[in-house]
Amino acid sequence: MELKFNSIEEEINYPPISDFVSLSFKRDDLIHPFISGNKWRKLKFNLIKARELNKKHLVTYGGAYSNHLLASAAAGAKFNFKTSAFVRGEEANNPILNLCRLFGMNLIFVSREDYKNKAKLVSNNFNDNNEVYVLEEGGFGFEAEKGCREIITELKNNYDHIFCSAGTGATAAGIINQVSLSQLKTTVHIVSLLKGGEFLKTEIDKLLIHKIEYQLHTDYHFGGYAKTKPELINFIKDFTQQTGILIDPVYTSKTLFAIQDLASKNYFKKNDKVLMIHTGGLFGILGMMDKFI
Ligand SMILES: *Cc1c(COP(=O)(O)O)cnc(C)c1O
Repeated sequence: MELKFNSIEEEINYPPISDFVSLSFKRDDLIHPFISGNKWRKLKFNLIKARELNKKHLVTYGGAYSNHLLASAAAGAKFNFKTSAFVRGEEANNPILNLCRLFGMNLIFVSREDYKNKAKLVSNNFNDNNEVYVLEEGGFGFEAEKGCREIITELKNNYDHIFCSAGTGATAAGIINQVSLSQLKTTVHIVSLLKGGEFLKTEIDKLLIHKIEYQLHTDYHFGGYAKTKPELINFIKDFTQQTGILIDPVYTSKTLFAIQDLASKNYFKKNDKVLMIHTGGLFGILGMMDKFI
């Protein structure tokens, strides 16, 4: 099960980062327009497992702007699975959910209270349906972690620092594990997009193959998940206009902001090579377009 994608590492010429640090992006945003970035990484081994188990129906969960829902819907259509999703909150229409519907996903809106009991949602709605394969919220789990290891095995160059954003931490765990397995001398930096991101350490550590050191940055959430500030919006505009590369407002922009902030504080050494994983998720911007006008 593959999507055609030639792993691209691209040096980014964006002066504000620093004169003496080289910054590159791993362009996982180019994997697929809808099954983008780390969402494909996290789905891949789940889909392989679902197929092995002869499951025909992917069931998952998410918020109304979830990149994971859109990726699951598009992947389901491409690889011949039915898809259903429990969406948190009242029935809604937005560009992401409408794309999910377009790809054939059956959306079931549930109250915030009901959403908390995920196992019950599945058993109440799909009891005795042994065609169902459940994907955890945000795609979290061992299959996801395994898929994210490939971000590192594909790299053609060596880097002193690798930065990646974290929501559930599964992508982070895959990267950290593979850096260790490949015996790279790279420092892995994980940037939390959630307020109170210290909890991520527990989540990431659940998926680590052994105890491995990494840096968790918890001060770049800009008020919390999917929250933003004019400074971040301007940062996105400036970067996009100078490079022609879009970064999303929820994840990658905050991660890049962290890199720039650390560079401005002389965190890096001269000639350090820094890599940011562009984890995709560009449709996130559709939920905030009004802020960009
Ligand atoms: C979902 C997502 C993440 C977070 O991945 P986790 O494995 O949940 O930590 C990072 N970047 C983008 C663009 C995403 O859509």
